[in-house]
Amino acid sequence: MITIKNEEEISKMRVAGKILKETLDMLSQEIYPGQTTSHLDDLAYKYIISKGAKPSFLNYEGFPYTICASLNGQVVHGFCSDVPLKEGDIISIDCGVIWEGYHSDAARTFPVGVISVENSNLIEATKQSFFAGIEGIKAGSRLGHISNRIQRYLESRGYGVVRELCGHGVGKNLHEDPNVPNFGKYNSGVVLEAGMTLAIEPMSTLGSREVYLEDNDWTVSTWDGKPSAHYENTVLITKDGVEILTL
Ligand code: MG
Ligand code: MG
Repeated sequence: MITIKNEEEISKMRVAGKILKETLDMLSQEIYPGQTTSHLDDLAYKYIISKGAKPSFLNYEGFPYTICASLNGQVVHGFCSDVPLKEGDIISIDCGVIWEGYHSDAARTFPVGVISVENSNLIEATKQSFFAGIEGIKAGSRLGHISNRIQRYLESRGYGVVRELCGHGVGKNLHEDPNVPNFGKYNSGVVLEAGMTLAIEPMSTLGSREVYLEDNDWTVSTWDGKPSAHYENTVLITKDGVEILTL
């Protein structure tokens, strides 16, 4: 069931989105060669708690961290560790915040020091595919408009689009209906209504789009080991357009 949020719920999600944006901004200043994802996790936890909010991911179905830290060929749900980040790595940080019972969800891929042109282009294209996806979207648009535009943006530039994972509704629960795939037919899917809140999250690859589940039963990685990027925001559908709650 797709929930339509009222003004009171939306105002709570705006706060959850703002704290999450601040958390990701803070983390972006802390990513450099030698840094560890365990430390980033600790910084994120402390920041969110200091704002009177709660992390969405910690203990979600047993997930053990505040952030997902997915390195290079890891697509999503990477575990944090004490292994130092290396120059040239790319790291996707996904995080969620709960404010008065309402979630926000967002992800960014960051460079560690100086990275290759290929990886830099992958990160930028993945970000831009999100904006291509939401362009012109408003109440009355179909979900497939978003999915199809993301797919076309990435595939036309030679990138793989991961199909086993998708965006989702978000609100009282971290994952709600509908699923928001990053591929599909343009004129397909539900008609969007004002008050729907969606986590839209393209996940791309530099090589094949095939992925597998690592032995920890959480982390999804590219089959060929090639790098992957992730860009996600929580958005509110309005009568006239979309409001991005995590920017
Ligand atoms: Mg996320
Ligand atoms: Mg999400």
